[in-house]
Amino acid sequence: MQLSNKFSIGDTIVIASHNEGKINEFKTLLAAYNLRIITSRDLEIQDVEETGNTFQENSLIKVKSIPDNYIAISDDSGLCVNSLGGKPGILSSRFQKQCGGWFEAMEKIYSDIKNKKIEDFSAKFICCLSIKFSKNLIYSYLGEIRGKIVWPPKGKNGFGYDPFFIPKGYTKTFAEMEHSSKILIDHRSIALKKLIKLHLSDS
Ligand code: IMP
Repeated sequence: MQLSNKFSIGDTIVIASHNEGKINEFKTLLAAYNLRIITSRDLEIQDVEETGNTFQENSLIKVKSIPDNYIAISDDSGLCVNSLGGKPGILSSRFQKQCGGWFEAMEKIYSDIKNKKIEDFSAKFICCLSIKFSKNLIYSYLGEIRGKIVWPPKGKNGFGYDPFFIPKGYTKTFAEMEHSSKILIDHRSIALKKLIKLHLSDS
């Protein structure tokens, strides 16, 4: 039997996430394809523990949390600061919790960079998306966007570390940009474009 690795208009896709910021981005980016988007919460599936050592490993853990009778998409993403050896990286979400909030996490990252001998504010957001069509038919795609950390945080849009990251070639932080503009250029949308190109029927 030939298993399909395509989805089509009208299909149900599960976004394997509880992160409202990410879910909103997916819903907006996928709106044009008339899919029925549901999430882990709709299936009463709890957040899974991210025990992987890479974005891809964690993204696979998340997508595998969804029953095999659904087409599912997962995202593992984070902010990697060059002068901090790529931190917080896969720990981006947990780092925020340890610091006690988004502002506190951004402040700590900024001060850690400032404390280095050579100040290097370059950073990138990385995203690994996985799509699962069945138990053994899973594909992963990477997207990344380079930029720099700025202080103080600016802007009210977006989520997470958006207020202190300016993508290369722009003058506004992700959080100052219109949400609709940010999501067209970010790491998630870069990975999603690759996924759609290869897995949307007739695209
Ligand atoms: P996780 O993929 O569930 O481990 O969480 C990723 C974390 O990375 C989020 O909670 C945010 O802290 C951060 N992150 C990922 N993508 C973005 C983004 O587009 N903007 C801001 N922060 C992000």
